Amino acid sequence: MKRIGLLTSGGDAPGMNAAIRAVVRSAIYFGMEVYGIERGYAGLMEEILVPMEMRSVSNIVQCGGTKLRTARCLEMLTEEGQKKAVSTLEKNGIDGLVVIGGDGSFRGAKVLSEIYGVPTIGIPGTIDNDLEYTDYTLGFDTAVNTCLDIINKLRDTMTSHERISVVEVMGRHCGDIALYSGIASGAEIIVVPEIKVDMDDIISRINRSRANGKHSNIIVVAEGVMSAEKFAKQLQEVTTYSVRPTCIGHVQRGGSPSMADRMLAAQFGNKAVRLLKDGIGNRVVGISQNKIIDMDIIEAVSMKKKFNFELYETLQMISM
Ligand code: ATP
Repeated sequence: MKRIGLLTSGGDAPGMNAAIRAVVRSAIYFGMEVYGIERGYAGLMEEILVPMEMRSVSNIVQCGGTKLRTARCLEMLTEEGQKKAVSTLEKNGIDGLVVIGGDGSFRGAKVLSEIYGVPTIGIPGTIDNDLEYTDYTLGFDTAVNTCLDIINKLRDTMTSHERISVVEVMGRHCGDIALYSGIASGAEIIVVPEIKVDMDDIISRINRSRANGKHSNIIVVAEGVMSAEKFAKQLQEVTTYSVRPTCIGHVQRGGSPSMADRMLAAQFGNKAVRLLKDGIGNRVVGISQNKIIDMDIIEAVSMKKKFNFELYETLQMISM
């Protein structure tokens, strides 16, 4: 393989830049050229390609966001758009593609590899951690750390005023950001899409904790359930404690990537290029039991994300 393309797609995630750097530098190491495609699949429609050199990726390992920018591209869902994408790749002599993105981006990559025979490797870049085949996605660790920083601050003020804080975190249909930031911050309750909301149980847990001497409560609500505002309103109707909603919002998607995300980025990017160099396409890379793995892209996108109920029970046992 002589020349590969690289794009970031879907929602941005901290660590995408570090992964771009790892892909570009690994490819150059193996004597391959890299073209960066700007604005995700939209860049393939509009043919926005930039040659990436060693120095194109200097000083970005620590930066949030994505240097190649990202976009949602509806045209990629159509046969016409997909053909346009393939034609751009062919016209520019690109024989392999690395796609950094989430579930939707992988579906686009699957189409390119399965239907049009473009060797494509997917790198899981999304804060949501919603892909079953990998233990962690790029950006998840940083996003959870951002949530922790905010929840720690909320705990201070909630305790002073003896309030209940309802904190909304991202994650779309996946409760992992809520689960991990809930456990790691010592939140008493998490509300996730995978488990039906039981307001009576929530109230009894709050009352029990207050009877046990607590002066505040943190409830982490995943955006896939409802907004913090709506949840706080419902809760306020059934409790005399004062409730305050906070939506963390897009702050979760930015910021300098954590060590864990930079390590994943380096390894995912390097692994993706090694596969393409060996003529292997149609795979996604990930991490399982602390080992970097790769898997068939079709198999990976067909796996349904499972919620970690054991971790949920742990939270219930230790956050009282
Ligand atoms: P995140 O999880 O952070 O939101 P994502 O990659 O899942 O990231 P999506 O908006 O779902 O984000 O998908 C990104 C892009 O991938 C879409 O805008 C579209 O261009 C492409 N895509 C999604 N689904 C498909 C599909 N079924 N076929 C072809 N392309 C697709």
